[in-house]
Amino acid sequence: MPRISRQDLDRWRGLSFTALAIELTRRLIGDEFDADLIRQLVADALDFPAPMVRLSDRSFVLELFHGPTLAFKDFGARFLARFFGRLLAERSRHATILVATSGDTGSAVAQGFHGVPNVGVVVLYPAGKVSPFQEAQMATLGGNIVALRVPGVFDDCQRLVKTAFLDARLARLNLSSANSINIGRLLPQCFYYVAAYLSATSDSTLPVVFAVPSGNLGNLTAGVIAQRLGLPVRRLVAATNVNRALPDYLDTGEYRARPSIPTISNAMDVGDPNNLPRLLALHGGSVEAMRQNIHPVSVGEEQTRLAIRQAYRLTGYVFDPHGAVAWSAVENDLSRTGGSETTIALATAHPAKFGEIIRDELGFAPRLPEAYRDWASRPLVAVDLPDTRYDTFHHFLIELAGRSRGTA
Ligand SMILES: *Cc1c(COP(=O)(O)O)cnc(C)c1O
Repeated sequence: MPRISRQDLDRWRGLSFTALAIELTRRLIGDEFDADLIRQLVADALDFPAPMVRLSDRSFVLELFHGPTLAFKDFGARFLARFFGRLLAERSRHATILVATSGDTGSAVAQGFHGVPNVGVVVLYPAGKVSPFQEAQMATLGGNIVALRVPGVFDDCQRLVKTAFLDARLARLNLSSANSINIGRLLPQCFYYVAAYLSATSDSTLPVVFAVPSGNLGNLTAGVIAQRLGLPVRRLVAATNVNRALPDYLDTGEYRARPSIPTISNAMDVGDPNNLPRLLALHGGSVEAMRQNIHPVSVGEEQTRLAIRQAYRLTGYVFDPHGAVAWSAVENDLSRTGGSETTIALATAHPAKFGEIIRDELGFAPRLPEAYRDWASRPLVAVDLPDTRYDTFHHFLIELAGRSRGTA
């Protein structure tokens, strides 16, 4: 891994987020892409801000919800899409990305890859089980994005995708995936840790604590990568809801996957987090080393709602349920450790996406940004899969491949 020095950090103070992202991309993959291309792809992918909000003297919120789907997955999906498209174009190849989604990942991947040449995306989502806003994000795009509405649950979507990846008859479709194990999604997520650090400190040796709302642990892993690059991070608070796979693993040293439990911070409802092996590897395979660096805090449903009310009363800040879990967790960690570090809680989703819950707790619903207010009037172009049998999906993919060859 390359190293970021204190001098680098000093030099990068005052750079825009995009300019900093370009510097970091060059450090990480500059041996594979030339500088001009990196500048062009990163500027195109990360063209939205990641503002920091100061809640008190030493407590900050990093807002990661100003991309097209109003959630942090836009960083990873847009960066991956541009580099992926570029590599395929250089090789004159076409790939089809299959994504099974319960909402957020599919929206970010669909929006991220929309219009990117040499790539098609098929997003499978369970009919009636994603929010209308999420459905609009996936199913109104058209072009190289096919939104496939599956008459089943998320697990059916996941099974169809996994079976397709193993289906040798589909080899010529060049299937690929874009889930949160993909390093192409994690790298760009390191960038905002560095940007947040620079904005919260004036001295590049001061250690800070990040609180990360966690599900599949991709975001947390990106934070640890930023730390390994040399960012002065004292520890990371792994903020989970009642899905306790990580906290229980750190408590007992024994890993147990379990079914996910539905909560109001639903993008974190993960029972078997897929980045855990990578996280452990980044700690030299030692659970003890991980315990020193990663403090898990599990936040219950009532506590999450309480945090939304308390944060608003104490600071005037409106958290969505995911950000509220992070804020509650870091407050808890500070009181438990007696720490007095500067803390940065990651807010991963726009509160307006959870208007009902915010209204329950605060008595008003935050408004969506101007550009989104017409979302309900955009026509859906979803395709209905007639049933959840694999054969049906297989035929759908074969037909889709035939059609795109016809138009190529
Ligand atoms: C996906 C998601 C998370 C969880 O991130 P992981 O990288 O899977 O741990 C948290 N908050 C929101 C809003 C998300 O969409």
